[in-house]
This record gives sequence, structure tokens and C-alpha cells, in this order.
Amino acid sequence: MERNIFEAEHDDYRRSVRAFMEREVVPNYPDWEKAGIVPKSLFTGLADLGLNAAVPEEFGGAGIKDFRYNAIAIEEGAYAGVGPALLGPTLHSDICMPYLLELTTDEQKHRWLPKVASGEFVVAIAMTEPGAGSDLSGIRTKAVRDGDDYVVDGAKTFITNGINADLVILVVRTGEHPHRGLSLIVVEDGTPGFSRGRNLEKVGMHAQDTAELIFESCRVPIANLLGKEGEGFFGLTNNLPQERLNIAIGAIAGAQAALDQTMQYVRDRKAFGKPIGNLQTIKHRLALLVTEVEITQTYVDRCILALNAGTLSVEDAAKAKLWSTELQGRVVDACVQLHGGYGYMLEYPIARAYIDNRIQRIYGGTSEIMTEIIGRSLNLG
Ligand SMILES: Cc1cc2nc3c(=O)[nH]c(=O)nc-3n(C[C@H](O)[C@H](O)[C@H](O)COP(=O)(O)OP(=O)(O)OC[C@H]3O[C@@H](n4cnc5c(N)ncnc54)[C@H](O)[C@@H]3O)c2cc1C
Repeated sequence: MERNIFEAEHDDYRRSVRAFMEREVVPNYPDWEKAGIVPKSLFTGLADLGLNAAVPEEFGGAGIKDFRYNAIAIEEGAYAGVGPALLGPTLHSDICMPYLLELTTDEQKHRWLPKVASGEFVVAIAMTEPGAGSDLSGIRTKAVRDGDDYVVDGAKTFITNGINADLVILVVRTGEHPHRGLSLIVVEDGTPGFSRGRNLEKVGMHAQDTAELIFESCRVPIANLLGKEGEGFFGLTNNLPQERLNIAIGAIAGAQAALDQTMQYVRDRKAFGKPIGNLQTIKHRLALLVTEVEITQTYVDRCILALNAGTLSVEDAAKAKLWSTELQGRVVDACVQLHGGYGYMLEYPIARAYIDNRIQRIYGGTSEIMTEIIGRSLNLG
């Protein structure tokens, strides 16, 4: 079924993003995978294309809040087989950006937004700690007021853009209450007492820096508080639908890319004198997966329009993330199987998709947490 959410200007944008992937990303991607990080020039290059368009014009953006553009960047990364390289830039534009647009004072906007829009400042968001992931009430990183500063002590882990980041949106504990004791502060690169730990070695997503961050008597000006003290948890929950939709879009695009590669493979690969695609079991298996992906795409597209309209609920975004990431897992696993031994060779995109996509069911809230959110909304007692 043809998708019907895009207009002519989105199609133009898609063409320019696709050309950028082919020219700037695909040829360099193996080097970035070896380096375990993308260069900062990727952030500025994508910003020039329009990735950070949501920033108001007076601060260097285009003032366009239309998540269809964000979706196109994620999709084209997945279709080109370089999705992990887009994780950092789209975390910057889709997940971190709303905090900097919605919770900042005028002074903060002037200080940060122009370089966030141009991609010169890379942004990360640091919630997870060695002892607290799904349950944010377990956050221990403390920020204690001292004069005009907060003194921050603690450690974060698994932070996307952790090495590249110039600004870190840090979730800290400013009070005892599990949720009302959480606040958001922005830590700038070079702040004394802020250091980076390891760029962590992962199963997949090798082009992406995922790091530990350390705060030791780190003095952060109170002027870097985002929103009000004690309202950090509400800031986080407000932005979850957009974060989860970002992941759902990548998951369904990744599933589509895996299917496209595999359908070509089974047309070409011969066994018992015929293309294996002629075998009814293989044809039926792919038919079922194509059906599921197409139907899921229509749900995700509805969510994109709902986000644009300001009506995407936490539960619906959780459904999109849960379903599309679980489906991507099943699709990619089946596609590896249909590639036979070649599916286990890293020179084949499907093998890399297998290791890269496993994380989708874990970060941004695990499948179990998504199920819990949906379950809670059913008022079953
Ligand atoms: C590559 C990568 C990038 C990441 N990027 C970031 C980032 O940029 N910023 C950031 O802050 N974090 C980031 N994370 C962290 C990620 O969001 C967490 O790993 C994730 O939320 C799970 O938390 P956890 O690892 O502490 O697991 P835990 O919370 O300890 O969960 C362990 C298991 O218990 C299950 N579980 C927990 N609670 C429940 C429950 N109530 N009901 C049922 N099951 C439950 C979980 O589903 C899971 O299966 C990243 C992680 C990775 C691996």
C-alpha cells in the first residue's frame, strides 16, 4: 500500500537526504564503525540539509516542526544500511531538541540554540546510571546548591553521543522524592569535574559512541537548570512519545530494508535448480512478514501525524515502539535464516542488521516497560 502522509516538499527532502547518504555516509561508514564514533562533521552536514529545522528562525533554524522530515532522515539512514550512524544526529534533533526548545529561558536559548541548530554543539541526554535504567526513581547522581552553582557528583552510563557531546542534558537528584526530586541541568563540555569514561564496546551499533560520563564535584551554574527544579521527571515524560516514535520509525524502516535485501537475495539464490524464492515455504514466510510490516507502517504513519497534531499519547507511542521493534527483531531473524550461511557473514548487510537492531527492544524503554505502560492504561485494577 502506498504511504500517503508525505507532500511534494517531503519527497524533495527525501531525495536530498538519500543523495547525502550515498555521497557522505555510505563510503565512510566502515571507517566510522572501526573508530566507534561518527565525526562531528556529520552533525553539521545533516544540519545543513535541514535536520534541526525545528529550531526557530531567530536562532538559526527554519522554525518548522513537522516530524515527517525527521522520519525521512531516520528512514533513509536505515534504507542505506547506515542506521547506526544516524542514531546520534537524530537523538540530537528528535530526542534532545524538545528539551532545549521548550524548557529553556531566553538567555539559554541565545547561549545554546544557534550552535545546536548548526550542529556545532552536539547534545546528549544522560538518564541511565550503573544502578538505574528502567526505574528512574533510582537515580543517585546528586546536585547540591552551593552559591550560584550546583555541585554534581555521580556517574551515568550507556550515553549516546557521550563522547561527541558538547552539551549534556543531565538528570540529577535535587531532592529525596523519587520523582519530584529529579531535575534537569545542562552540563557544558569543559566544565571542571566533568569527564568521560570509556566509549563502550557494544554487540552492534559500532559507528555510534555510547559512553560513561563521570561527575566529581562538578560545578554547574544554576543558570543551566532546564525548567523548574524538581520538575525533571515531568519534562522527561512529556518528551517520551517523540523519543519512542523516533525508535519505532527506525525499526519499521530497518525491517523494510531487511525484507528488500532478502527478497532480492531469494530471487537470485538458486537451490535444487530454481531460485529459492520459488519455494512455497519461503514465499509464504516472506508474504506474512511483508503483510505485517506494511500494516505496522500504517500505524507508525498515523503516529507521525498524531505527533504533529500534538495528540500522540504515551500509550500509543509505547504501542508503536513495542510492536515495531519486536517485529523488526522477528523480520531480521527470519531474513538471516533465508540468507543461509551468508546471513552470518558481516560483509552482508543482513548480518550487520542482526547485531545492530537487537538494542531496539532495550533502549528508549524496554519492551517489558512498554507493555507495562500499555497495561496500566487499560484500567484493569
Ligand atoms: C546502545 C545504547 C544506547 C543508550 N543510549 C542512552 C542514552 O542516550 N541516554 C540514556 O539515559 N540511556 C541510554 N541507554 C540506556 C537504556 O535506555 C537502558 O539500558 C534501558 O532503559 C534499560 O535500563 P537498564 O539497562 O538499567 O535495565 P534494567 O532497568 O535493569 O532492566 C533489566 C531487565 O528488567 C526488566 N524490567 C525492569 N523493570 C521492569 C518492570 N517494571 N516490569 C517488567 N520488567 C522489568 C527490563 O525490561 C529488562 O529486561 C542506552 C543503552 C544502550 C545499550
